[in-house]
Amino acid sequence: MHFVVCLKQVPDSSEVRIDPVTNTLMREGVPSIINPYDAHALEEAIRLKEKVGGKVTIVTMGPPQAKEALRKAMSFGADRAVLISGREFAGSDSLATAYILTQAILKINETEPVDLVLCGKEAIDGDTAQTGPGIATRLGFPQLTYVIKVVELNEDSITVHRKLETGREVVQAKLPALLTVEKELNEIRYASLPNVMKAASYEPEIVDAKTIEFDPSQMGLKGSPTSVSKIFAPPVRSGGEKVDGTKDPSGAAAQVVEKLFQENIIMQKGGSR
Ligand SMILES: Cc1cc2nc3c(=O)[nH]c(=O)nc-3n(C[C@H](O)[C@H](O)[C@H](O)COP(=O)(O)OP(=O)(O)OC[C@H]3O[C@@H](n4cnc5c(N)ncnc54)[C@H](O)[C@@H]3O)c2cc1C
Repeated sequence: MHFVVCLKQVPDSSEVRIDPVTNTLMREGVPSIINPYDAHALEEAIRLKEKVGGKVTIVTMGPPQAKEALRKAMSFGADRAVLISGREFAGSDSLATAYILTQAILKINETEPVDLVLCGKEAIDGDTAQTGPGIATRLGFPQLTYVIKVVELNEDSITVHRKLETGREVVQAKLPALLTVEKELNEIRYASLPNVMKAASYEPEIVDAKTIEFDPSQMGLKGSPTSVSKIFAPPVRSGGEKVDGTKDPSGAAAQVVEKLFQENIIMQKGGSR
């Protein structure tokens, strides 16, 4: 069985800063990581490969530095890595990104038919959760989103549990299909030493507009109807007021109650104090 994982390299969100003048993300010097949801998608693909046999191919669209994320992914046990990289892809929004990734998957599918595509639920920098469903729609694959458990996989179909606000839903789909996954799906393994050594010198295949046919009107800024009007960091919250109750607990409690009345957070029955 052939599993394709869409994996995105993202800035470590705890360290992202925003340029106050241009309102753009300052990526320089910010460490990059594999999008956490995609790490779980990769882990599941490797587990399924170990169970039913087959191959795991990773696909990413990003700058040349995304090779680092692909090597890391290879160290977990993937078999092939493809990097879609080139200036022609710059400025692509989620619609264009889904188009570009779909074209790459279709190309891979020509020589090695794809049975299951796995994506993260969302990327922690873009947060749109649109890319996976966008790819499934273009490929004409059933999409199983918010997956928290793969119950069964056989030659023709896959059965999963989907996370809902009110519980979980058990869904079966015919293959080929696409999953978008939650972090609860699995525990990520440690990379084995032989795989780490093999991955260190691995060179991902580079794909650009010369190697795959892309419609220029569907990618880059031209193919991206979304525009970002403003991006900003929320103001830092000042710490809450503290009341020391160590010496006089009942006095401190009275102080807190008084404050809550003042702020109209609590009221006496009837709406007054
Ligand atoms: C107007 C505009 C211009 C932009 N220009 C750029 C730009 O120049 N450079 C840039 O890097 N970003 C750019 N972006 C951001 C980029 O469009 C998004 O990061 C991308 O579309 C994915 O959307 P997301 O991050 O919300 O991913 P989501 O849809 O939340 O991601 C869901 C899943 O899709 C898969 N996925 C998403 N993106 C990729 C990818 N690149 N490769 C492989 N798998 C992926 C992963 O499995 C991920 O977990 C731009 C966005 C806009 C709106």
